[in-house]
Amino acid sequence: MSIGDLVREAAFGFSLAKSGIARSSMTIGELVREAHGTARAKGWHDDDETPPDPIRIVAWLGLVCSEAAEAMEDVRLGNMALTFGEDGKPEGLPSELADILIRVADIAGALGIDLEAAVVAKASYNARRSRRHGGKAA
Ligand SMILES: [Mg+2]
Repeated sequence: MSIGDLVREAAFGFSLAKSGIARSSMTIGELVREAHGTARAKGWHDDDETPPDPIRIVAWLGLVCSEAAEAMEDVRLGNMALTFGEDGKPEGLPSELADILIRVADIAGALGIDLEAAVVAKASYNARRSRRHGGKAA
């Protein structure tokens, strides 16, 4: 267990070991396997076609948007810190950002996408782009 895990357990009384997540740091590939494995185990992929229908993929992407909307609402409400509800449910902006990552990782897992390779390729490309990508305002 990492020092970060120990601090989180001490601060929040939340046991990562009991949650089934053995550690708090993971590679993108591990996140994809964890997120997609959990989604499959919980039945969210029971009706998937092989390959998945494009409309189903669009629906999955819609769920990413819904998590972004939840994150926006937390910002509007000033819920900027990670907190835990009485039932132990993580809440606040950090939790919604985590939901976005988890949903993206699940989609990558469902589609067999090497998300880690894509992130490395895109981050490397972005690092070479011009300031504000050629003068974009936002
Ligand atoms: Mg959420």
